[in-house]
Amino acid sequence: MQTHFSPDQLKDPLIAEADSILRACVHCGFCTATCPTFVLTGDERDSPRGRIWMMRELLERPESVTADTGIHLDRCLGCLSCTTTCPSGVDYPHLLDIGRAQLDKQVKRPMPDRLMRGFLAKTIPYAGRFHAMMRLAQIGRWFRWAMPARLRRMLDKVPEKMPRRPDPIGAKTAVYTPSKPTVMRVALLAGCAQRALNPDINASTIRLLNRLGVEVKVYAETHCCGALAHHIGAVDAAHESVKIAVHHWHGALKERAIDAIVVNASGCGTMVKDYGHMMQHDQEWSAKAAAVSAATCDITELLDRLNWQAATTPETRQTATETTLAYHSACSLQHGQKIHDLPLRLLRQAGFQVVQPRDGHLCCGSAGVYNLLQPELADGLKSRKTESLKATGAEVVAAGNIGCISQLNASDLPVRHTVELLDWVTGGEKPF
Ligand code: SF4
Ligand code: SF4
Repeated sequence: MQTHFSPDQLKDPLIAEADSILRACVHCGFCTATCPTFVLTGDERDSPRGRIWMMRELLERPESVTADTGIHLDRCLGCLSCTTTCPSGVDYPHLLDIGRAQLDKQVKRPMPDRLMRGFLAKTIPYAGRFHAMMRLAQIGRWFRWAMPARLRRMLDKVPEKMPRRPDPIGAKTAVYTPSKPTVMRVALLAGCAQRALNPDINASTIRLLNRLGVEVKVYAETHCCGALAHHIGAVDAAHESVKIAVHHWHGALKERAIDAIVVNASGCGTMVKDYGHMMQHDQEWSAKAAAVSAATCDITELLDRLNWQAATTPETRQTATETTLAYHSACSLQHGQKIHDLPLRLLRQAGFQVVQPRDGHLCCGSAGVYNLLQPELADGLKSRKTESLKATGAEVVAAGNIGCISQLNASDLPVRHTVELLDWVTGGEKPF
C-alpha cells in the first residue's frame, strides 16, 4: 500500500513503524474471509483491509478522521485472525495499537463510553475489586427489568456461579515447592480476572507443575500483566502494570531465582511476550522488558519441555480415553502466540478423544472486555461458537484462556482450562 507521510511525520518512531507496516499490505483481501467482524457484518470497514485503509487515513491526515473510523476500529476484536491469514506478514496488531492511540488523541469519546472504560480500567485488573463487582452484578440482575438496555446486556455476561472469594493464590507472594527434587523454578502470573472468576486454574497449574518437580513462585506485586488496560486504551495504566511486572520478573531472572515465567491465560501470555516490543522506545525498560518476554512461555509450552506424561498412569489414561472433548483454540493462543497444535497434542497424549469445531479460527467474542463494550457483536460470535462446539458432540470443552472459558462455559457443555484436564489425568480431581 502506498503511503504519503511527510518527512516530519516520519521522525516520530511510531509513525515510521506504522509506515513500514502499511507498506507491507498489498490490499489482496485474503484476510477479510477470516475476520469475525466482517463475517458478521459483511461491511468492508469491519474487515482488516478496510481498517488498515482507515488507519492510513487517520495517521496521514489526523484532522480528516470521522466518527466512522472510531466505530469500525472499536469493533475490531484484536483477535489477530488476520495475522494468521495474511500472506504478506502485515503486523496488524502493532498498527492497531498506533492507530487506536492516535484516534484517542483526535476524538473525544462520548461521556458514557469514557466512564465505562475508566470504570473497567480501575476494576478488572484488581481481583478483589473485580470479584466484588461481579457479586454486586449478580444481585443487580434481580433489578434487570429497571435497567437500560446496555446495562441489561452487560448483566447478562455475569456468570451464574461465582467463587465465594477470589483465588488466594496471588494474594501474597508465595513459593510452592515440589515434594520431589526440583528440576526447574518458574514464576507464575496468577492474573487478575482469572483469580476473580476461577480459582481452580492456578491451583491445577501449581499441582501439576509440583508433581513434575517444578517449583512455582507467585509474586503478589505482578497481579496484572496490563492487557485489559491496554485493550481499553488506558495506555498509562497498562505501562504501569508492565513496569511492575518487568521489575519483579527481571530481578528474579537476573538473580537466577527463576528459570522462566509461565502464563496460563493466553490473553496475558500474548501481552507479556510483547513487552519487549511495547517498551522498545523506552531506554530504561526496553532491554529488561525484552528479557522478560524471551523468558515467558504458555503453560503448554512449559509442559512440552517437561516429561509430563510420566505423571500419568494406565488407569488415568483409560479414564481420559472415555472422554470426548472439543478443543477451543483461543485467539490469543492460536493467532497471538501461534500455538494451536501443541495443546491438542498434549490432550491426545493424555488419552482424550479430541475433536475440533468447525470455524475454529473464529473468535468466540470474549476478547478481553470486548463482550462488555460491543455486546451485540460479541453475542453473535458467542452463538456461532457455542453452536459449532455443541455440534461436535463432545461432553467437555478445553480452552487455554479465562476469557473464552467465561464466555462459553454452560451447564450443558462445561468449558475447562486445558491444565485442569491435564491435572485430572495426573492425579487431580475431575474438573467437571
Ligand atoms: S491479507 Fe494481508 S496483505 Fe492482504 S489485505 Fe489483508 S492485511 Fe493486507
Ligand atoms: S484482529 Fe480480528 S477482528 Fe480485528 S481486523 Fe483482524 S481478524 Fe478482524
